[in-house]
Amino acid sequence: MQALVLEEKGVLALRDIDLPQTVGPDDVKIAIHTVGVCGSDVHYYTHGAIGPYVLRAPMVLGHEAAGTIVEVGENVRSLAVGDRVCMEPGIPDLSSRASKLGLYNVDPAVRFWATPPVHGILAPYAVHPAAFTYRLPDSVSFAEGAMVEPFAIGMQAATRARIVPGDVAAVIGAGPIGIMVALAALAGGCSRVLISDFSAEKLAIAAAYPGIEAVNLKETTFAAAIDTATRGWGADVVFEASGSAKAFEGLFNLVRPGGAAVLVGLPVDAVRFDVAGAISREVRIETVFRYANVFDRALELIASGKVDLKPLITGTYAFKDSIAAFDRAVEARPTDVKLQILVAEEG
Ligand SMILES: [Zn+2]
Repeated sequence: MQALVLEEKGVLALRDIDLPQTVGPDDVKIAIHTVGVCGSDVHYYTHGAIGPYVLRAPMVLGHEAAGTIVEVGENVRSLAVGDRVCMEPGIPDLSSRASKLGLYNVDPAVRFWATPPVHGILAPYAVHPAAFTYRLPDSVSFAEGAMVEPFAIGMQAATRARIVPGDVAAVIGAGPIGIMVALAALAGGCSRVLISDFSAEKLAIAAAYPGIEAVNLKETTFAAAIDTATRGWGADVVFEASGSAKAFEGLFNLVRPGGAAVLVGLPVDAVRFDVAGAISREVRIETVFRYANVFDRALELIASGKVDLKPLITGTYAFKDSIAAFDRAVEARPTDVKLQILVAEEG
């Protein structure tokens, strides 16, 4: 079947490729409807690797998807043909120690869509375990369903932060993940979320949401803005969502005594950070790797109207124009948050 294949670094092709379509007893087969273009997909396209994951053979891209079930395995009771669903792209070994601890996202054996050598799902059909496939509430569109995966990272960050109602949060970086983190922090009970970036366009998109306040780093420092907002006390939770080494300079000065720093962004190289600064405030440091056990809650928040991800979808392309979608993503326009591809014929 036709799929969007990354042949090698910098070379995409929409072409036929053999993908396994055998539906096991615990699997479902999904007709893919909508797929989001993720920063990681784009990075494999432009760099051919992310850290230790190196593209060594042609690979289908895409891991943020929603669609309709067309076949279910004989053991599957929770889902039926015709159900609209979204999928969690990582498949852990459910008998692993990490899975038994509930930490299946850090199972070393996890197979994740569009992470070499595992194929992604920019193709008309995918087969996936029912256990990692989630029914969309009627009020949630396919486009929103395909946004659950990136939002899940925000959900994981908010969960790891252990937010308490009324907390003041600060998010470094107003890229797609920073915005997802800010929205999840608000939904998780934060009274206000300050978000910083150098891009006025990105900040404008974030600050269009009530409760999110933009801090333009071309005009002030984040430390000064947090100082003013908290009268010198510091933010209860600081989320690092830029992945920039610079963000680690003075990071812990943004956190109130006894508060938390949650590391979401992935710096390319090792970074230095101020251990004494963290210790002197007894800052709790948390890290976020993908997500576990948050898709159901993400869907509930979207269905309830408490989280609206629709304004973040800034462009939609037909499947035949997938390469154009990726080339636009490479441009990294500051006004773009999420581009999506409609795989289904009729949209
Ligand atoms: Zn993604």
